[in-house]
Amino acid sequence: MTRYSMLIDVDKCSACYNCFLACKDEHCGRDSMPIAKPQPENGHAWMNIINQERGRYPKVKVATTPVSCMHCDDAPCIAKAKDGAVYQRDDGIVIIDPEKAKNQRELVDACPYGVIFWNAAENIPQKCTMCAHLLDTGWKEPRCVEACPTGALVFGDIEDHTSEISKLMAQSELEDYQPEKGCKAAVKYIGLPKKFIAGTVCFADNDECVENAAVEVTAKNYHNRVVTNGFGDFEFEGLADNCEYEVTIRYNGYVTQSRKITTERDVYIGTVFLVKK
Ligand code: SF4
Ligand code: SF4
Repeated sequence: MTRYSMLIDVDKCSACYNCFLACKDEHCGRDSMPIAKPQPENGHAWMNIINQERGRYPKVKVATTPVSCMHCDDAPCIAKAKDGAVYQRDDGIVIIDPEKAKNQRELVDACPYGVIFWNAAENIPQKCTMCAHLLDTGWKEPRCVEACPTGALVFGDIEDHTSEISKLMAQSELEDYQPEKGCKAAVKYIGLPKKFIAGTVCFADNDECVENAAVEVTAKNYHNRVVTNGFGDFEFEGLADNCEYEVTIRYNGYVTQSRKITTERDVYIGTVFLVKK
């Protein structure tokens, strides 16, 4: 039996919004009943790009994460819906029935990921359908996946072990978006933003950047080492949330420096000045 899923590789997303626009192109002004009524031109993002600012000046990054309906196996929207207005198909796709869901505005708040939108003109809640109306006529993937130029979105049948998505899932460390929601999401991720520790190393006597200083980060069950670049900068990415790390900076002829850092957020420790022994 077919079981559809999507795998989203966050590191490959360039925030080009092609997926968002392809979704608009497919669904705005197009009635695909019984799967969906047309999406309004404004206010809906059935495929959304979440921009998250990370770090602080001068070390700031933006993480971009594509987010749409997770097509949950344990879906709060299905539990909340009256008259079976939201249902999961045998292929795993969760659909809001536009007829039965009329006037059920409470479904917008039923989704813990915030991916259900209210269509005021039609009086219905709406969300991503994985382009089920296209899949049912032989399409191999939804429009957003077809439009993605970087391969950040991969779609397919996870029951088919020869499919690209099955192979990628087998060789990847899969993650759930906001796993604390516990909804058994069908949509899986690779490379969701974690935490970073970064800093800059300079000589105390002349303020020059220190290139090739050895920087180590250690924690329980974690050890990594880098050297500073030509600007004296270093960075450790993909660190765990709320974990205590020790950063140690060594350079021949200079006093070793260390800092204890807790990753409640991304941390730029600022400039560390090395003093001669
Ligand atoms: S992500 Fe939200 S809308 Fe989609 S199936 Fe899960 S609970 Fe329902
Ligand atoms: S089309 Fe692909 S690369 Fe562009 S925003 Fe969407 S997921 Fe990211």
